Amino acid sequence: MTFKELDLNANILRAVEELGFEKPSEIQEKAIPTLLTSERDLVGLAQTGTGKTAAFGLPLIQNIDTEFRAIQGLILCPTRELCMQITKELQAYAKYSEGVKIVAVYGGAAISDQIRQIKKGVNIIVGTPGRTIDLMERKVMKFDTVSTVVLDEADEMLNMGFKEDINRILKGTPAFKKTWLFSATMPKEVERIAKNYMDDPFTVTVGTKNSSAANIEHKYCLVKGRDQYHALRRFIDYSPEMFGIVFCRTRRETKEIADRLMADGCNADALHGDLSQAQRDSVMNKFRKRTLKVLVATDVAARGIDVDDVTHVFHVDLPDEIESYTHRSGRTARAGKSGVSIALVSPAKARRIKLVEKQIGKPLELVKAPSGQDICGMQLMKMIKNVHDVEVNEKGIAPFLAQIHEELKDFSKEDIIERFVSVEFNRFLKTYEKAGDINLEPSKSKDRPERDGGRNRRGDRDSEQNSKRVFINVGKIDGFENKGQLLGFLCNQSGIDGGSVGKIDLFDSFTFVGVEDGVGEKLINSMNGKNIENRDIRVEFSKDKLRNERGGGERRSTRSGSVNSSANRRSNDRGSREGGDRNFKERRKRR
Ligand code: ADP
Ligand code: MG
Repeated sequence: MTFKELDLNANILRAVEELGFEKPSEIQEKAIPTLLTSERDLVGLAQTGTGKTAAFGLPLIQNIDTEFRAIQGLILCPTRELCMQITKELQAYAKYSEGVKIVAVYGGAAISDQIRQIKKGVNIIVGTPGRTIDLMERKVMKFDTVSTVVLDEADEMLNMGFKEDINRILKGTPAFKKTWLFSATMPKEVERIAKNYMDDPFTVTVGTKNSSAANIEHKYCLVKGRDQYHALRRFIDYSPEMFGIVFCRTRRETKEIADRLMADGCNADALHGDLSQAQRDSVMNKFRKRTLKVLVATDVAARGIDVDDVTHVFHVDLPDEIESYTHRSGRTARAGKSGVSIALVSPAKARRIKLVEKQIGKPLELVKAPSGQDICGMQLMKMIKNVHDVEVNEKGIAPFLAQIHEELKDFSKEDIIERFVSVEFNRFLKTYEKAGDINLEPSKSKDRPERDGGRNRRGDRDSEQNSKRVFINVGKIDGFENKGQLLGFLCNQSGIDGGSVGKIDLFDSFTFVGVEDGVGEKLINSMNGKNIENRDIRVEFSKDKLRNERGGGERRSTRSGSVNSSANRRSNDRGSREGGDRNFKERRKRR
């Protein structure tokens, strides 16, 4: 199948060819013919990196009537980064489609510039929900002429709490419009949007729902928590050509690991929500230009980052929410390339391996962190190759050669090779000579049982102590700095007595609470349906979830996965919500 056979016009074909796209990806092949000709709504489900942007972008551009100077296409996406990426990509597709005007609107940038651009005339708006509403309310843009709405990364948008905003924006669009929804996963909330806002949509699925790309090698390495950094460094030193992303669970860890890598001479930097927008842009630019070899990031900060040719994704321990694993590893093996995902797993998290395997539908391969010997060998051979390939600047070195020959005149060729190799080798040897084996044996890490409900050890013990534990999709990110604050909120909202609550495990985006008999039910009955920051609060018994998951019901476990996913997607760090905290607060005020 070629792009031409998809009935794209000559202007678009020329642009696509210039971008080096040889043939359509699967989602493009399946979606483009329908999107070009049909009036039906569409749901497109495909992993990250499968070319969804062109799948909706090419037909959208082709269908623009440039004689009609009004907004005809509206694309909503979750983050500023993604918004800029989509706009750039669409502008490239429209390079030869004269008169098609595309404008990006997102928070954290001067609204006046965006207003000026819109006033000049625009056919396609690419926006984040917050800024889009803002501009609607200022009456800078109206959507009554929009014939196509695209919801890109719909799952992310819902999980970041944009549900109400999306509802409001869609209300401003005409009934006759087509809606195209694209998503990597299909949690319940996305199904609900599809049901409420779409009319008998045509569904295109690539791969299995929620699965991961086929061309990723999934590996894990079992090491103690305090050896995780060393293992990471060994893998990095072992792969001279690596271009990778290291995922950490917290901002602090992200900073620490990036700092240590830099101190150890690796070109690394950190990306997390504590950075200003300008700092984040600067880090991302360095990474895109390959000035950085390794980007260390929190899950949310790295969301939607579209950098091709990432060879390795590392997980400094498995994520708290299993679905994050798929999103993380999807940062490699983009655009048909292959990649490696390596999880550095501590014994405490070893039992999550099974859950990840279930999520991605294939086993993780146990690998060992390279030994000092392996690394020295690898670096040495790289140096030899460099020596072999180096361009000699005869003129430049000429003035020194006589003296050098004099100094080395007593050595044979063999001697010289040995010595000169040792100069380099000793450097790595120094780092690695005392480096023992840091790998753990899977059998010795008795924390890894065959069966597993995704809870850490402590969690399990707690659930035995308390008669029941409930899961609540609210956590530190919602502003609860400690367990006391969360408990206060729960008591206030549901009328339960603080004394009837046992152990509380407060995580970034969710919480487990141990409860006495009857209290869990009360929490569930009174809290469900309430909301916080525009998002529905959900409370459920975690033991039920566990049992069902163990029961092996695939459907049920996917559903409970989506509970986790929604918590997870809202992030461990809300930095990449558009406009950061400022906008977040603005949205809250508006309600
Ligand atoms: P998704 O939205 O599914 O995560 P993107 O649309 O961002 O994926 O595409 C991922 C990468 O693949 C981008 O760099 C894009 O330019 C490239 N790409 C898209 N379609 C093709 C194609 N048909 N052939 C080659 N590369 C492509
Ligand atoms: Mg995309």
